[in-house]
Amino acid sequence: MTTEDAATIPTKTINIQRATASRINELDFNNIQFGKIFADHMLVVDYKDGAWQTPEILPYGDMMMSPATSAIHYGQSIFEGMKAYRNPEGEIQLFRPLENFKRLNLSAERMCMPEIPEALFMDGLKELLKLDAAWVPPTEGCALYIRPFMFATDDFIGVRPSDTYRFVIFTCPVGAYYGVPLKVAIEPNYARSVEGGAGFAKAAGNYGSALLPARKMQEKGYHQLIWTDAKEHKYIEESGTMNIMFVIDGKLVTPAVSNTILNGITRASVLQVAKDLGYTVEERKVAVDEIIEASQAGTLQEAFGTGTAATIAQIAIIHYNGTDYTLPAIENREISNKIATALDAIKTGQATDTHNWMVKIEA
Ligand SMILES: *Cc1c(COP(=O)(O)O)cnc(C)c1O
Repeated sequence: MTTEDAATIPTKTINIQRATASRINELDFNNIQFGKIFADHMLVVDYKDGAWQTPEILPYGDMMMSPATSAIHYGQSIFEGMKAYRNPEGEIQLFRPLENFKRLNLSAERMCMPEIPEALFMDGLKELLKLDAAWVPPTEGCALYIRPFMFATDDFIGVRPSDTYRFVIFTCPVGAYYGVPLKVAIEPNYARSVEGGAGFAKAAGNYGSALLPARKMQEKGYHQLIWTDAKEHKYIEESGTMNIMFVIDGKLVTPAVSNTILNGITRASVLQVAKDLGYTVEERKVAVDEIIEASQAGTLQEAFGTGTAATIAQIAIIHYNGTDYTLPAIENREISNKIATALDAIKTGQATDTHNWMVKIEA
């Protein structure tokens, strides 16, 4: 079978090996810790001889691997993050999963990894969620976080693209995001991403190299850093692992996506909802100086990060060059508060899904 065949053949069979007993009683739905308790099953698919093999759904658990597994050494490893929600009827729905699927393949291409067929991703995901449906929290504000990822599995330490890969999806319930408004600092030295690099990809190494700069900012009392362009550190790119947006003089302003910025699905959705609500949206270069001057002039009305985990994470303070700039109170932030409410209503099935973003899981 050629690679092309593999990409076009829909996934018909998934071998399912059920967990002998569910662990769901270990979960306190009223007090969910992020990223610690995983649902009963995981989807596992191997790629070898130029083709994706039969997908399997297995009990969630450890995986055996060789110490020479190439992903560990050279970082051919990519991931996605998305959520499933429960609507008022109790049905499970995914928020824009095809966008995550497409982005995973963009990351795969950049990291010289094989393409994942849509049927493999979507059918595997739906089957997994059907099996672990009980793990989608019924509680308001909660969701099932979904982590698809792919890594190189050759046990070979020569530097070259691996011949074999593993694609996995596991899930974990997550509680409501009660994040405090963030204190962030503009990063003057380190860079997350460079022109021509892989910053637009959700590639594991991007996150590893961001940990030290983030910790240094935390030691100075900030939650997170604002990444600037690698060349001059003059333009704002992202906030930690979120995209970043500002409201200046009533307009929603955000850095335009490029090959140094990760194209967030929350970002795109926030911009769409802003347009739906009649706000002016500007996607362009955003200079650090513009933000500081707007803050000094009193025209910087809002600042926030966007991402799957928080949807909208408000920014309370921006630090730059020795000064903390305090932003207006969260309750006065008309635009981001309205968008957050509107998006949440779509995700939980309480508002009409005019853009067909939600994908239902048939019971
Ligand atoms: C995942 C991610 C985002 C947000 O993307 P969403 O699709 O909105 O979750 C933004 N920036 C970086 C660096 C990311 O890894």
